[in-house]
Amino acid sequence: MEIAVAIPAPAVASPERRPERCERCGSRGFNLHQRATKALKDPLMPRVPILRFICKRCRKTTRLYPEGIDGGHQTVALRQASVVLYWLGLSYDGVREYLGRFGCSLSKATVWANVRSTGLLSNRHRLRAEPASLIIQEGPNGPVARLRVRGGPYSMALVPNASHALTITVSTQQPELARLLQCRLLEVARRLGLQPEPIRAGEAARA
Ligand SMILES: [Zn+2]
Repeated sequence: MEIAVAIPAPAVASPERRPERCERCGSRGFNLHQRATKALKDPLMPRVPILRFICKRCRKTTRLYPEGIDGGHQTVALRQASVVLYWLGLSYDGVREYLGRFGCSLSKATVWANVRSTGLLSNRHRLRAEPASLIIQEGPNGPVARLRVRGGPYSMALVPNASHALTITVSTQQPELARLLQCRLLEVARRLGLQPEPIRAGEAARA
């Protein structure tokens, strides 16, 4: 059985936006100063265009980032993905290692801060996979993390898909564990405002 949650990717379109007002002098008049790109940690979007504006009055420059991206290097989507992976059993090290396979390695401290920002730190509902059980394998759709909890083995995969979203799928053959994983996935999805996807393939075989 497979359960999944979709994480929307950052929206990039920002052509006509302008900074609200100059941080230094408060003026609202800006000229476009420079187009640049910013390197990102995101499996779908390694670089994003940014615009730099210059204040007409005091010449201070201001950067404007697309929605879903802030001054940091990780996108909101990657931050959410790291929290879901941690919540469903990966350790901080495991999250770092797994996301590293997508060229998006976050430090342990960053993953910890991501979890803390959601208020889920030390939550007793978090699944804890046996740390030594983690094996990362190359699957048809990219890297798959194979893990084990007391209820049995399961796997998780982060899949960047064509609709510019990230999907995290969780699979197991154990019906009891599937119910637990589903429950936990719904919990974290609700907390992060994400959309769980309908349960897929293998559901009928369970009965
Ligand atoms: Zn100014």
